[in-house]
Amino acid sequence: MTTDDPRPVSLRREGDGLRIDWADGISTFVTWRTLRKECPCATCTDERAKPPNPFRVLSAQEVAAGPPAPLKMAPVGQYAYQIAWNDGHSTGIYTLAALRKLSEPTS
Ligand SMILES: [Zn+2]
Repeated sequence: MTTDDPRPVSLRREGDGLRIDWADGISTFVTWRTLRKECPCATCTDERAKPPNPFRVLSAQEVAAGPPAPLKMAPVGQYAYQIAWNDGHSTGIYTLAALRKLSEPTS
């Protein structure tokens, strides 16, 4: 991490995603669905590396949970956030750099 890394001025829930205003004046938005899909934890990273399985069925918990939504988003140190999802998954730690990469500038 260097001092050139993006710093958020504010993070807030907006509609079905996360709005981030950055210190460099850029405002970005990313949907919860994208964040959940791009979960950086080892389990999900392994899962994404495998070829798609057409016979994979959703677990009962996934079906019951509906579209991905965060239950909790907590800072981890100064450079990351841990998101606890409504499907019970909470090991993903999103660095600020990852959040910046995953979100789209809207201004
Ligand atoms: Zn994960």
